[in-house]
Amino acid sequence: MRFVFSAEDEAFRQEVRDFYTKELPSDWYGGYDERDEQHAFIESVRKKLSAKKWLTMSWPKEYGGLEAPISTQLIFAEESAYHRFYARDSGIGYLGPAIMRHGTPEQKERFLGPIARAEISFHQGFSEPDAGSDLAGLKTKATRDGDDFVISGTKLWGGHLQLSDYSFLLARSDPTAPKHKGITFFIIPAKTPGIRCEEFGNLGGGTQNIVYYDNCRVNAKECVIGEVNQGWYLATTLLNHERVVIEHAAANQRQLEELVTLWKAQGRDKKHDALHNVMRNKLAEIAIQIETCRMLAYRIGWLQSIGQAPTFEASEVKIFGSELTQRFAQVAIQVLGLYGQIDRHTALRKYVLANGRPEHYYRQQIMYSIVGGANEIQRGLIANKGLGLPRA
Ligand SMILES: Cc1cc2nc3c(=O)[nH]c(=O)nc-3n(C[C@H](O)[C@H](O)[C@H](O)COP(=O)(O)OP(=O)(O)OC[C@H]3O[C@@H](n4cnc5c(N)ncnc54)[C@H](O)[C@@H]3O)c2cc1C
Repeated sequence: MRFVFSAEDEAFRQEVRDFYTKELPSDWYGGYDERDEQHAFIESVRKKLSAKKWLTMSWPKEYGGLEAPISTQLIFAEESAYHRFYARDSGIGYLGPAIMRHGTPEQKERFLGPIARAEISFHQGFSEPDAGSDLAGLKTKATRDGDDFVISGTKLWGGHLQLSDYSFLLARSDPTAPKHKGITFFIIPAKTPGIRCEEFGNLGGGTQNIVYYDNCRVNAKECVIGEVNQGWYLATTLLNHERVVIEHAAANQRQLEELVTLWKAQGRDKKHDALHNVMRNKLAEIAIQIETCRMLAYRIGWLQSIGQAPTFEASEVKIFGSELTQRFAQVAIQVLGLYGQIDRHTALRKYVLANGRPEHYYRQQIMYSIVGGANEIQRGLIANKGLGLPRA
């Protein structure tokens, strides 16, 4: 058993660090929810990453990738999260691999190059008002009409439609088929007549959409990915790619380092009363959990490197990582006391500590146990696939 990265891996890690140090402002706040205000800047940095082929380093060379080993991919993801840069979007992370596997030659030609060059972006329309965990219960309809499909329905949560070139979605194309059959996977232009979108804010400060598809007419040959009525199988491959593994460990590591630096700058490391001893122990506990999370994520990388496809193991990291972020959000606020609660956008901003990030994380962390498949669903998967217990 070896728990070390090679000298080449470490050299690559340094190269990625140097890149982010050079490209990002020293006071870069970053993070998922800042994408709207920072959109143009983020895209300019992503273009530089794509020129190095780092965004698609796992892809085959013929599609603009590097066929990089898993260790290199892990390092890039780890350093991007540590530097709070949202490098991997849905096109690169999971739609691209799905098109590679199921798309026609024309669709591969149309989408893969532009995705690899960070030229196009996507809105994800899977969840609906009454279909989230039970995604196969979706009601958006796709009705065949000659060479076209006519799509009608409502999608909830997927964000940034206005900034996207395309919407990829699941729709029910055969209402008479059993629930998991009769679903088709589409990629349609975001400006297709009949698409309308409303925005709403989430607790973390980001924006989500409710998107209405009102009799959107699209050409079947151009817009259906994979086989008609086989979209469910394509979507499950795609969702397996969506599960983020290393980001929680790396992002929390950065947050912990900043909190400890602040703790020392305030001279609190010299205090040994009951309060400070309790807080020190809480920080130490978080350090253990970050390390555990990192090891769970590395195990996924190891499984992939020996050609195995992780299933319940990815759910383990998803649960542990998201709940670690939630536990840490509580601890960070406790450590900072009342000052930890100040919103950096308010008039009290001069009293903000640690750049206001703990307060922001405290609001934002709630979503992590829901996005990418709710943790209860992931636990069911571990019970079934990991422990061999029957499905609930
Ligand atoms: C910030 C954010 C971003 C998102 N982005 C996107 C996006 O880009 N595209 C997209 O399509 N969707 C997106 N989603 C939607 C996300 O995938 C769903 O919220 C998620 O699948 C849960 O579905 P739901 O909200 O309908 O909750 P429900 O499925 O109604 O679940 C509600 C609660 O019941 C629990 N529950 C449900 N079923 C079971 C069960 N069988 N056993 C035990 N407990 C159960 C759940 O765990 C949860 O706690 C996003 C959500 C959020 C919060």
